[in-house]
Amino acid sequence: MKAVLGGKGANLAEMTNLGVPVPPGFTIAADQCVSYLEHGGITEALRTEVQHALVRLESASGKRFGDAGNPLLVSVRSGAAVSMPGMMETILNLGLNDVTVEGLAAASGNPRFAYDSYRRFLQMYADVVLGVSIHRFEQLLSTKRLTNGVSTDAELSADALRSLVHEYQQLVRSVTGADFPMDPQVQLWGAIEAVWKSWTLKKAIDYRKVNGIPHTLGTGVNIVSMVFGNMGDDSGTGVAFTRDPSTGEHRFYGEFLVNAQGEDVVAGIRTPLHIDEMAQRLPGAYEQLLDTQARLERHFRDMQDIEFTVERGTLYLLQTRTGKRTTAAALQIALDMVTEGLISQREAVLRLQPNQLDQLLHRVIATTSQSTPIAVGLPASPGAASGIVVFDPDVAERRHQQGEQVILVREETTPEDFHGIVAARAVLTARGGMTSHAAVVARGMGKCAIVGCTAVEILPDQRSMRIGDAVIAEGDWLTLDGGTGRVFAGDLPTQPSEVMRVINGQQAESDAPTYQGFAKLMGWADSHRRLRVRANADTPRDARMARNFGAEGIGLCRTEHMFFEGDRITAMREMIVARDEGGRRRALEKLLPMQRADFEGIFQAMDGYPVTIRLLDPPLHEFLPHGGEESSLLAASLHLSRQELSRIVSSLRETNPMLGHRGCRLGIVYPEITEMQARAIFEAAVRAYRRGIDVHPEIMVPLISDVTEFRHQRAIIERAADQVMGVMGERVPYLIGTMIELPRAALTADEIAAEADFFSFGTNDLTQTTFGLSRDDAGRFLPQYVERGIYPDDPFQVLDTKGVGKLVRWAVRDGREAKPGLKVGICGEHGGEPRSVAFCHSVGLDYVSCSPYRVPVARLAAAHASL
Ligand code: ADP
Ligand code: MG
Ligand code: MG
Repeated sequence: MKAVLGGKGANLAEMTNLGVPVPPGFTIAADQCVSYLEHGGITEALRTEVQHALVRLESASGKRFGDAGNPLLVSVRSGAAVSMPGMMETILNLGLNDVTVEGLAAASGNPRFAYDSYRRFLQMYADVVLGVSIHRFEQLLSTKRLTNGVSTDAELSADALRSLVHEYQQLVRSVTGADFPMDPQVQLWGAIEAVWKSWTLKKAIDYRKVNGIPHTLGTGVNIVSMVFGNMGDDSGTGVAFTRDPSTGEHRFYGEFLVNAQGEDVVAGIRTPLHIDEMAQRLPGAYEQLLDTQARLERHFRDMQDIEFTVERGTLYLLQTRTGKRTTAAALQIALDMVTEGLISQREAVLRLQPNQLDQLLHRVIATTSQSTPIAVGLPASPGAASGIVVFDPDVAERRHQQGEQVILVREETTPEDFHGIVAARAVLTARGGMTSHAAVVARGMGKCAIVGCTAVEILPDQRSMRIGDAVIAEGDWLTLDGGTGRVFAGDLPTQPSEVMRVINGQQAESDAPTYQGFAKLMGWADSHRRLRVRANADTPRDARMARNFGAEGIGLCRTEHMFFEGDRITAMREMIVARDEGGRRRALEKLLPMQRADFEGIFQAMDGYPVTIRLLDPPLHEFLPHGGEESSLLAASLHLSRQELSRIVSSLRETNPMLGHRGCRLGIVYPEITEMQARAIFEAAVRAYRRGIDVHPEIMVPLISDVTEFRHQRAIIERAADQVMGVMGERVPYLIGTMIELPRAALTADEIAAEADFFSFGTNDLTQTTFGLSRDDAGRFLPQYVERGIYPDDPFQVLDTKGVGKLVRWAVRDGREAKPGLKVGICGEHGGEPRSVAFCHSVGLDYVSCSPYRVPVARLAAAHASL
């Protein structure tokens, strides 16, 4: 019932049903939050329902809300359908006032504990509900420690805490002009409203944006009777994972604090103890915890992140949820759970999110680096990153916007730092454990983080820190290795990850365990998908890499990229500025062998797979020098005067080049270009074929708007094929198809399909021309469009299934009606974006093609789409 109750509420209920010890409580459904935020007020019906639930809670707990003798205290906790750790509010110890605190002291026989709970409640409630800054309370608290000559809160006596409570109450009065509410009912509704309102806190909104969580869900409110981890040394609180969230290793992993309340661990205020130490400190509860965590994992059939409290030796579970984990851990856990018989291979494939795979490709610090770390902290989230140190989230955001790489260093992070974490390449904290805010958030974003690095001492001016003897100021360089927790001074070189090293042939598969796990899971994914996955690759090197990533062919080879290498650009420029066909042919003759060699290398790398080669596409002026020395050199080598050259260059200038003389329009005006390219392709194909390579060239005509353009180009290509194969005495199979990247081509797909062997949707241009939106200029305003919800996503990143998608659907339908079995693929940027891949699957495309690095993402997304 997560959608109704929120994840926390649903799982608390589930645990209760399982017989796991959970303090009694009830949940207000998330739709109440939505209607509160819309209409403002609280309905009578809800008030009545909550009163009934409270009465039941009283009888379940044997205590009464507001009772002077044995008061029921509750926590009021947020919890949405999708977990948003620490982003919304929670208030503990609610129900305490000047009367009930005495009752709690008497009932527990522990006045110190009662007043500690009361002062916690006062500061939390005043901060969250009454808007009195928490720092004002912390100042009073630290003054109290000073005047009592103690260094920790735990050493403050009952009397000291009692007087602190008075000071807190005075502070509230002076700031708000009113007394702190003593009526538990008033407190309760104040807290409920505050939890609802916390749905719209900036940090919560930011978190939803980054994680793609809808703003319309609202949060549930959980009212749970309090259990106390701050009752003494036989009490405590902790957070744990049923498996290691960094590596996935199958071992119970967690942290806890003796004599503390939950918030202390989560907020990273004290660095907690390792869970293994709990076996000594609280042996009975530890045994029970071990048993319970295993049960929870078996029940939910996934790694759990649990929160627990021990009150005088008795264990209570306060939360369980699916644990966030690194991609390496996700892989390991999925594979192990299949071996353990807990989940099927199919589920294992679904457990990995396609976009997560990116993390496995992250760089790590080069093994050749001789540097010794200046400090070691907890490896909270992997990846290697270097950047300049900043100590403030606003500074992080500003300097990031100025194009700098920053590392955010904090004592500990709080949800208020979220925008700074987003801006930073990596996060380093002095305190807090693997379950602290910084760790959880960075892991969720696949960002490098090291936490609990106790050697870091942030100096009071907040613009520098000390690590050992070294002082590091804002703006100094630091390098972090989030996989090992090591911190280095300076900007160290990094190297490819294990998976990348295997892909690049720098490391043997046999000693690469993460790669092996990756390969195994991807193999399962492949067995479930229908869509084929190809890569966009322009060079033999990229083609080999794509193949190692699992590409089943090339969906887009852009021939023009080849022309920029070395002195090829000179021959290309010669061709462009040639005065007549003869001059052009002479220049093209020079280009032909270069193209042929590239194609041959690509055919070899893609032995057995199709290779789609696009004819020259960009406007010619892109190849020309933009004045200066380069122009003089070119003029000299072409035996032209500077004036003549600049006249030719300016005659090629276009007002709107993206809609100008480009694509097939080049090959129609200069057929010799198409002819040369086709010859290079067929000569390469025959040569490769003679060497025993299984070649499948597919020649693709770009930017057509009418079948006549295609017909014209096809004739030239076929003539070249016959000529080359006739002379060389060897025939290889080939296809001639076209890109569908203009709306008119999509709308006349039936006519085109009658003559083309395949379609490939060029969704970059198709998006550009369907929206009438220049991709090169959209950066100025498109972000605001997405920000304001005018467009749900950037249509250049996520395929617009409504508009552009409709053209794709129509063209596939009409094309296949005209030619049953027409081969159809996509080669835009969208081919590596999971939601767009799902769309391609649903409209029946044969394949997607994307950059080599995105191939694993597309393979997994295609499997998810089939499952
Ligand atoms: P978050 O969603 O930010 O984790 P929670 O609602 O889980 O917030 O509360 C934070 C912490 O407060 C929990 O880790 C838990 O230890 C503590 N807590 C919440 N409710 C109770 C309760 N009824 N008794 C004792 N501790 C509680
Ligand atoms: Mg929690
Ligand atoms: Mg295009």
